[in-house]
Amino acid sequence: MNLFNLKSNEEPQTYIVKGKQLLCHHCSNDMFVLKYHTIHEAGSLINQPASCFICTECTHMHWFQATE
Ligand SMILES: [Zn+2]
Repeated sequence: MNLFNLKSNEEPQTYIVKGKQLLCHHCSNDMFVLKYHTIHEAGSLINQPASCFICTECTHMHWFQATE
């Protein structure tokens, strides 16, 4: 999966990242909503694209830095 091309998705669904089913690190749920963000690093003029998968069960947030 190329995280860079993902769009925000409020509809809960399962995701596979780098060939592995994404499971919540806290509750093992497999359903997430996706928020696509730009991270503004302090002291840097470069904004980093990032994907945030939010667990629909416990709301734990899983961040991935988007890369080509
Ligand atoms: Zn969870």
